[in-house]
Amino acid sequence: MTGKRILVTGGAGFLGSHLCAHLLRTGCEVVCLDNFSTGCEQNLARLKSDRKFEIVRHDVIDPIRIQADQIYNLACPASPVHYQLNPIATIEANVLGARNMLRLAALTGARVLQASTSEVYGDPQMHPQVESYWGHVNPIGPRSCYDEGKRLAETLMMDYHRQQGVAVRIVRIFNTYGPGMAVDDGRVVSNLILQALRNEPLTLFGAGSQTRSFCYVTDLIEGVWKLMNAEGIDGPVNLGNPHEVTIRELAETIISLCGSRSAIVHRPLPHDDPARRRPDITLAMEQLNWRPAVSLTEGLLKTISYFDNLLSSQPMGEHSLAAQGIPEPLARAD
Ligand code: NAD
Ligand code: UDP
Repeated sequence: MTGKRILVTGGAGFLGSHLCAHLLRTGCEVVCLDNFSTGCEQNLARLKSDRKFEIVRHDVIDPIRIQADQIYNLACPASPVHYQLNPIATIEANVLGARNMLRLAALTGARVLQASTSEVYGDPQMHPQVESYWGHVNPIGPRSCYDEGKRLAETLMMDYHRQQGVAVRIVRIFNTYGPGMAVDDGRVVSNLILQALRNEPLTLFGAGSQTRSFCYVTDLIEGVWKLMNAEGIDGPVNLGNPHEVTIRELAETIISLCGSRSAIVHRPLPHDDPARRRPDITLAMEQLNWRPAVSLTEGLLKTISYFDNLLSSQPMGEHSLAAQGIPEPLARAD
């Protein structure tokens, strides 16, 4: 990778900052573009001293000219709490952001990788989810700004590829967690770990019988990098850990691994919350020779240790979820 120049949009976020660090380790130059809406400078602190690293403060909804060999397009809030706060901005980041990166790629000859999501399958009627499944998505609900925004970004990728010959890669990322998640992220792993570490009740939305499959961040980043650099794969590829758990099981595991005295409390299930989710990763195994290596227990222990260190280095009050303004789910399911 030495001599290559790589643009990472959303590079100051959870996945983006891990990706920038990985790319710098391979020897390339990295330009991190971010509007710092959910990402932060602190995520980039360890990278700033690297002379091959550059930060550009910019919103992907506005066009920009940057010369790069490859573009990883990650810019978009990923937590339901954040992407539902300003749904129009979420749609614009997905659609105009993808359009702007594709136009840039058409101009410069760069290859573009789009960070898509398991949310393109919606509340899936096929289980586990395979790339050929078209999904079951509500186009007008509170999650639609994200789900449909990502689906349209995929459409744009394929149309720029077919119509203008742009080299594209699409990764459908399933729930990923790990050190570097923000305290105010609002997604389930960080919420539950913070609550367990503080011996506060763990908030289970609904009965907790819904399932997710959690992938550790280093596994995911390795797969994303492999996909970008693989040849002959234009269509979407699932990346995630097929180990499926109910959210209740996740909560109980976290309580046990933290040695916490926390109880479990129930909150309303958010509108359109998918009931089941597990990736079929056959394509990634066959085409990229990729499979996740980190077990849920191992990954959770590392993440717990990260949040534990964070809590002990700062006053407790600053980390209260209520103090971070984390709202209740936006809408109740009927
Ligand atoms: P994150 O919120 O931590 O990171 C998103 C980054 O994008 C932040 O740094 C934010 O400031 C930046 N950003 C948002 N809108 C922007 C805009 N308009 N212009 C420029 N920068 C902008 O989320 P993450 O977990 O790191 O997710 C990164 C990408 O991966 C997202 O596209 C997300 O949809 C996708 N993804 C993540 C997961 C996951 O489990 N982490 C799952 C599926 C898909
Ligand atoms: N969830 C929960 N408690 C929380 C946060 C989330 O029970 O404090 C549930 C949420 O309803 C969903 C699952 O955990 O069923 C995963 O939520 P997350 O926001 O992490 O990601 P999603 O997969 O829904 O995008």
